[in-house]
Amino acid sequence: MGVPQDEKDERCIVWLDIDNTLYSASAGISHAMGERIHAYFVGMGLPDEEASKLHHRYYSQYGLAIRGLVRHHEIDPLDFDRKCDGSLPLEELLKPDPVLRKLLQDIDRSKVRVWALTNAYYTHANRVLRILGVDDLIEGVVFCDYSDPEFNCKPEPEFYHNAMRVANVTEPEKCYFVDDSLANIKAARKLGWGHCVHFCERGLLHVEGGKPKYIGSDVKEGPDTEGIAAITKVDELRTVWPEIFKH
Ligand SMILES: [Mg+2]
Repeated sequence: MGVPQDEKDERCIVWLDIDNTLYSASAGISHAMGERIHAYFVGMGLPDEEASKLHHRYYSQYGLAIRGLVRHHEIDPLDFDRKCDGSLPLEELLKPDPVLRKLLQDIDRSKVRVWALTNAYYTHANRVLRILGVDDLIEGVVFCDYSDPEFNCKPEPEFYHNAMRVANVTEPEKCYFVDDSLANIKAARKLGWGHCVHFCERGLLHVEGGKPKYIGSDVKEGPDTEGIAAITKVDELRTVWPEIFKH
């Protein structure tokens, strides 16, 4: 979901994932989020171990724990969002990022538009962008609409199709996309998105689906995995996408 753009825009479009892409996993947000989601599962009456298992299963299967919860447990997704993302102490964990801000300022807007593409609800997305100090540099946000019981999320193809519809993009090859989830990147590539980059802070410990994991431990080493460019700092987008920056 997002505010649809009616007018056709011939420029290419940059889609930025938000969580663990626009800020480093070292901020500890995935850890704090994992704890809250775990507490939610336990709050549904599941024993500790069962809660961990199911949390990880839904994350792996659907790309998002909440997707499985809505599908199999008929939970109220907005209640989930309030208790999980909504209660994160983001103001303590994140701060304005001048390097990211400069990166976004240096993108040549005569060539591309810059949008966010997130599996979070819009409240969390906007909050993160505001704290990082880049909300004014993002032209649109396509988010997961938890208020719709049939909502889609990355890496479901329908989510990407909807994003293109919302931004009024007809040619997938005009899409630039960076995300810390390789599954999300691969799904976009399958749909023909032209310039996909995997943000991979290799070796950093974070939490995925409630479980601690060293980032990149399941991804082959090297600058290029199955033809997908990988970067460890968002600023490296200048190198992999030189054509969209002001010179
Ligand atoms: Mg992410």
